[in-house]
Amino acid sequence: MGKLSITKKITIWYTIFMLFITGCVLWTLVYTGNLRASEAAQEVLMEAVADASEEIERFGGDFVVDDKLKFYEDGVYISIYDGEGELLEGRVPGELVQIMPVLDDKEIATISDGSGEAWYVYDSLFEVDDKFVWVRGVVKDFAEQSTFTFIMRLAGIAFPGLVIAAALGGYIITRRAFRPVRDIIETVEDITADGDLSRRVRIEEEHVETNDEIYKLAGTFNEMFDKLEKTFDQEKQFTSDVSHELRTPLAVIISQSDYAMEDEEYREKALGKINKEARRMSTLVNRLLTLSRSDSGRLVLEKDQVDLSEVCEMVAEQQAIVAEDKNISIETDIAEDITITGDEAMIMRILLNLMDNAVKYGREDGKVTLSLAEENGYAVCSVEDDGIGISEEDLEKIWERFYRVEASRSEEGAGLGLAMVAALTKAHGGSVDVTSKPGEGSRFIVKFPIYR
Ligand code: ADP
Repeated sequence: MGKLSITKKITIWYTIFMLFITGCVLWTLVYTGNLRASEAAQEVLMEAVADASEEIERFGGDFVVDDKLKFYEDGVYISIYDGEGELLEGRVPGELVQIMPVLDDKEIATISDGSGEAWYVYDSLFEVDDKFVWVRGVVKDFAEQSTFTFIMRLAGIAFPGLVIAAALGGYIITRRAFRPVRDIIETVEDITADGDLSRRVRIEEEHVETNDEIYKLAGTFNEMFDKLEKTFDQEKQFTSDVSHELRTPLAVIISQSDYAMEDEEYREKALGKINKEARRMSTLVNRLLTLSRSDSGRLVLEKDQVDLSEVCEMVAEQQAIVAEDKNISIETDIAEDITITGDEAMIMRILLNLMDNAVKYGREDGKVTLSLAEENGYAVCSVEDDGIGISEEDLEKIWERFYRVEASRSEEGAGLGLAMVAALTKAHGGSVDVTSKPGEGSRFIVKFPIYR
């Protein structure tokens, strides 16, 4: 049984079940039917014998039977014997003469003829004018002749026919129902064989919006393949982006160190460039490390009570120096004594990144506002600039790793900053959001649960 497909198992199971049920029904019908038929036959027999007895009289020394008495009626054979058992009138069926039982008052005897069919024999002894006389009735069991028997014969043929039809129909339906499962198996096998994740389980139009669990399963498999394919593609893209981002600074470092070795005068300048590129690489690798730790759930936060108001002040001060290059003024609106639980260094990185971007993508001679307030149990920190802004279609994507808006390619960066900000805020149980209008500016809002 273990090696059979589910379709076959189901079919076999209910075929056996149906055979059992129809068997039981047939048997009960035959049994009760036969019982009723033999009861009816015996009743007719006893009545006929009683009727016949009333038609016998004595005339002189002899028994006289009324003309009205028929010796064969309604299947009953009537015969009359004198006190000694000598046949006077009537008859018994020829084939039974040999096996007739001895006369026995008021008993029904059952005998069977050569072809195995049952007959009932009923005798009645009574007195007519001081002389004994026997009346014997013989009747064939009604079971064979009744319409009931006919119906049962029909059922005997029809039931197995129905079982076969149901088994075949059921087999076809279950086989069909399980087709998506076979498709799933085929698809998974094909993917395993050649690694092509673009394969999908085929689902016909009419089954797309269905409640059939098996088609739903196929749909779920396809969704999983979609997701796997996307993840796989992203993974490939990520690796290629990382290599690309590392290649440029490495090339600069190699060429600058070559120059430095050849040209003593140039050495200092080269060292400066090498240092800058190495720092860029270090930032990049640090961000990658943070992201990969966050992905695998290994991001370790040194949690403590953090005075967010103080951190904001510090970030604003630090950023003011950077902003000087573009003549951007940093303004603050920081509520005091807002404390959260978290890793101070990480929270600093979140805010520095946002401020960095605000300055980087901010308008020359513009302003950047850093504000902090408490709202509904959250510390809400916002970084607002009046710079280039972000278009609607880019708003979703800026959180993706290595994504950079086309227009901002001239600025330094690898597109990992916001991805890291999102990962770090999430690790703090917070959230980060953005609203922006191209040409008018952007506003990044970070929320942290307040420490109580
Ligand atoms: P990058 O290293 O390029 O700054 P980020 O992940 O920090 O990477 O940002 C992703 C992209 O989002 C940026 O390339 C830029 O196009 C856009 N962006 C981020 N902050 C701002 C901002 N304040 N104003 C306009 N665009 C921004």
